[in-house]
Amino acid sequence: MPRKLAAGNWKMNGLANSLDELRMLAERHANVGVDVLICPPATLISACAHLPVRIGGQDCHAHASGANTGDLSAEMLKDAGASAVITGHSERRADHGETNADVAAKSTAAYRAGLQAIICIGETLDQREAGTTLDIIDGQLAGSVPDMATATNTVIAYEPVWAIGTGKVPTIAQIADVHAHIRTRLAARFDDGGEFTLLYGGSVKGSNAAEIFAVQNVNGALVGGASLKADDFSPIITALENA
Ligand code: PEP
Repeated sequence: MPRKLAAGNWKMNGLANSLDELRMLAERHANVGVDVLICPPATLISACAHLPVRIGGQDCHAHASGANTGDLSAEMLKDAGASAVITGHSERRADHGETNADVAAKSTAAYRAGLQAIICIGETLDQREAGTTLDIIDGQLAGSVPDMATATNTVIAYEPVWAIGTGKVPTIAQIADVHAHIRTRLAARFDDGGEFTLLYGGSVKGSNAAEIFAVQNVNGALVGGASLKADDFSPIITALENA
């Protein structure tokens, strides 16, 4: 069975005083039956590392070190206490021009450093309306997921771009369709493709989490806005525990 994972992406939010939220969350959900991962801004990783939840980065450079001002390597994230890193988030793809090849290189860097790569894929609204969602997903899976991916070192997050931070959520049938498609493609390519954790991401909240987690091949969520406050993220984790 794929491991269940509730992952929170704090994006460019959070100062030292936000650690209270994380402490509260960690106290409530330590030793539950699902993995809880928080990806705070990199400035907070080492301050969070002792808490009983997993900590991750939001991006990494493909190289281990070098003349790359402002960038962080996967090794640096690992050194600060991270066990995972998000790669290919749609905000990186759109705002920083990251291609599938970039995402594959960053994911390979994650493996090199001993981090789990949370690889994000998903279609834009135009692509959804043009009926090309599954083609886009195929291209992103083929181009962004390295051949050395395994169910242990990789999690796939399906995040329709139009659902991120908008309050719009695909129908249950749409989520089920894409997740079944991803599972089929992974199973065809990797021996352990049936074991990869598949996350849904895009406007997940306490109020919609249970019905999303009831969908076959949804093994958790990547959560943005609702991961910032313990009181908002907690019900999502509980819904995953109960799914
Ligand atoms: C995200 O940024 O990955 C995300 C899913 O954001 P939100 O939950 O706010 O839609």
